[in-house]
Amino acid sequence: MKISVTMTRAENVARFGAGPVSFDLEEYLCGVVPAEIGEGSHMEALKAQAVAARTFAAKRAAAGAVIDDTTRFQAFRASLMDTCPRSRRAIKETAGQALTYGGALVDCFYSASNGGTCKRSGEVWSRDYPYYVHKADPWDEAARMENPKKASHGVGMSQVGCMWAARNGVPYHEILAFYYDGAALVHRYGTGSVVAFEAETEGGFSMNLHKRILTENACYKAGRTITPKGIMVHSTGANNPSLKRYVGPDDGLLGKNQYNNHWNQDRPGGRQVCVHAFIGKLADGTVATYQTLPWNHRGWHCGSGPKGSGNDTHISFEICEDNLADASYFGKVYNEAVELCAYLCKEYGLTEKNIICHSEGHAQGIASNHGDVMHWFPKHGKNMDTFRAAVKERISGTSGGNGGGSTSGILYRVRKNWADKASQKGAFKVLDNAKRCADENAGYSVFDEGGKAVYTGKAAYATYTVKKGDSLWAIAAAKLGNGSRYPEIKKLNGLTSDVIHAGQVLKIPN
Ligand SMILES: [Zn+2]
Repeated sequence: MKISVTMTRAENVARFGAGPVSFDLEEYLCGVVPAEIGEGSHMEALKAQAVAARTFAAKRAAAGAVIDDTTRFQAFRASLMDTCPRSRRAIKETAGQALTYGGALVDCFYSASNGGTCKRSGEVWSRDYPYYVHKADPWDEAARMENPKKASHGVGMSQVGCMWAARNGVPYHEILAFYYDGAALVHRYGTGSVVAFEAETEGGFSMNLHKRILTENACYKAGRTITPKGIMVHSTGANNPSLKRYVGPDDGLLGKNQYNNHWNQDRPGGRQVCVHAFIGKLADGTVATYQTLPWNHRGWHCGSGPKGSGNDTHISFEICEDNLADASYFGKVYNEAVELCAYLCKEYGLTEKNIICHSEGHAQGIASNHGDVMHWFPKHGKNMDTFRAAVKERISGTSGGNGGGSTSGILYRVRKNWADKASQKGAFKVLDNAKRCADENAGYSVFDEGGKAVYTGKAAYATYTVKKGDSLWAIAAAKLGNGSRYPEIKKLNGLTSDVIHAGQVLKIPN
């Protein structure tokens, strides 16, 4: 793709003349990315910037527009084209990738900072686009706490927010998914297949959900699954509200546990214990939820009673206790727990009636004799009945907590079939994006929130790119379930020998 650029900066005119100069788009970006976000930025930030700048330019190039080298369009500096290897690498590694919404290129704006709030484009300019949603931007907020910065127009990606997120482990496609709501990241300037899609937003529930599966814990290694019939609420029984006490190792948000006594070890403190999630404080004091086991894994959280064990039936989570007197902390973790339960109820077809705490489990004869959480909730005027009522209200509530915007809540999921959650390829806010994903994956359909198939993909076969060390037998074993089926792959691809090479794209039969 080519882009025409008029030169106004002295260094650019000196090298290229006033123009308009026709550039290969990827080469043009080598003068834009470092000028816009800085060669020293984190690699994921450079990649996010590369995709945003490429999308902005591709939309204009496709329309035959001539742009200039100033921030009226995008800053372009000839002197940086040959002196910024990291930017060049980010551009190369995302070559051709652009953002689309419903199949059309996004009109891709970004600015230095949004002041902590993403704006609708209609608030700033005359035109509204569905992918610019008014919402809080915790990354921009966090970045400006470290380093104050004046806000600019605030539509689209905040560069300081992007840089903060990248430093804190967020990959570039998730940064883009946050700032361009409902957009899909695709190959070949928006015409090719889907590269990445929106992260599952958990159906619009407003908990601060992270994942750190405790893979070293003997409970995880036991590998047993359950069909969740309910949820059991626990609290830790120790004055330590920090998630890092239980969840580790540090992911940059949890903070470092200097004693290394978190639960990501065979038997934490010599005990056979593990729950599905913890709610507590991150290193910066923010309250968050960490999922620590797959939700349908059999946990070790409540022992047993005369009628069996809730371990066989209940999803479990621990709320990290503090000194039990802080009303502000209690309010935050209580709300977080309500959101988590509402989400899990929706996900597993449960209702608020299926939620109990540990002490209620004991009374029902399916748990050991512990008092949690009823030694704590009443100190703040709450109990399990108020909790269940809050979850009920949240489930029946109209829209997601902080989702906002016209697209909140509704997700189109791409799976082989509705029951097969593990097959999920992505969750899309925009139906056209979901259809495109289904078209690229043989045997996949698009399902609405209720699990109804609304579209069946057109792909006749899947594709697989051969990696170093692959053999036809191994590919057949992995993709078709049996190595001896490799002749089917040969036949479909018209192969006359068994020799394959890395990088070769093979069609895989259904
Ligand atoms: Zn308990």
